[in-house]
Amino acid sequence: MDYLCCPQCRSSLDLPGNGLGLSCSSCGSAFPAEGGLVDFVDVRSLEEFALWQRAVYDGLITSARIPDHKRPEAVALYLDYCVDVAGRYGPLMPGWLGVKCRQVMDTLEPRPGELLLDVGCGTGTMLAMMEAVYGTRGVGVDFSRGAVESAIACRRGESEFFTADALQLPFRDGSFDIVTALSVLEHVSDPARMISEIGRVLKPGGRMLLHTASKKNRWTWHWWQRLTSFGRYGLGVDDRVGHDQGNFFEQEGLESMVRVAGLDRVRTYAVHTMYTIMFDEAFPGLLPRLLGTRLLDTINSLLDTADAFPSRMGYGNEILATAWKG
Ligand SMILES: [Zn+2]
Repeated sequence: MDYLCCPQCRSSLDLPGNGLGLSCSSCGSAFPAEGGLVDFVDVRSLEEFALWQRAVYDGLITSARIPDHKRPEAVALYLDYCVDVAGRYGPLMPGWLGVKCRQVMDTLEPRPGELLLDVGCGTGTMLAMMEAVYGTRGVGVDFSRGAVESAIACRRGESEFFTADALQLPFRDGSFDIVTALSVLEHVSDPARMISEIGRVLKPGGRMLLHTASKKNRWTWHWWQRLTSFGRYGLGVDDRVGHDQGNFFEQEGLESMVRVAGLDRVRTYAVHTMYTIMFDEAFPGLLPRLLGTRLLDTINSLLDTADAFPSRMGYGNEILATAWKG
C-alpha cells in the first residue's frame, strides 16, 4: 500500500503499530481506523453540500431513498450476480449500459495486474467486475463510511477499501494505471477539482473512465416518460439520492474540464438515450441469464443502432467520458 499518503500535505504516513490507524508526522493529521477501515475524511473541512451528500449515502436522511448498503444480504447477492454476469458475458454492470461501459473500457486497454482506483466505489461492484473481466487489482474509496464497511464485509477478490473525499484523495501522485468514477461527479461540490485529483493520482500513460448524469436529457426514454405522465408519479425523473439537476453535465463542458486537468485524448459518449435505457429498465438484471451471449449481443447492437442518431447529437440520460494522461 505504498500508494497511500497524507491527503492534507501528501507526506508519508506513519503506522503507529497499535492498530488505531495512520498518522502524518509532517502536519500532525491523524486518520483513525475502526474495524480495519481507515477514515481519511476530514469532517471539519467539509462544506454543507458535502455533509448533506455524506449523510444521504450513510442513510441518515430518512426522507431520501435508503442506500443499497443498508441491506447487507442484498449487497452480497447483487455483488455475486454482477461478478457472475461480468465473468460470463463481459458487461461491466448488468444490462445494456454495462455492455456499453465494457466497449468503452476496452478502448482504454486494461491489462491484468494493473492497479485500478474506483472513486465513489460504493459497495465495490465495479472493482469486482473489473477484476473478473480484466484481472486488474483494485483500490476503492467512498465518502460514505457505511458503503465502505459494506464493501469490506462483502469483499470479493483482493481489493482494498478506504473512506476518503474525492476532492482530497489520500494517494501519491502517479499511483494508478486506471481510475474510474461512476455516478460520482454530479455529487461533489467541485467537479473540476475531483477530475484534477484523478489526473494527479494517475501514472503517466494512465487512463480514466467517468460516468455522470447528462443535462441534455431530451429525446430520451426518461424525457418521454416525463412528457407522457405530465410530470406525475415521479416517472422519468432522475432523482436518485443526492441528485440535483443543476449539477448535471453537457459533453462540451465536461470535455474542457478534463482537458484543464491535464488529460488528453478526451472522448465523451452520450449513452442511455431512448431504446437502450427503456430496455435496461424494462428488463433489469435477469436478461443475461435467459438469453445467450450471441442473442444479447444482437439485441444490444440493434438498440445501439436505433439510438445512434440522437446519441450522436448528444442526447442521453448519461455521459461516459474517457481520457489518457500523456
Ligand atoms: Zn500531513
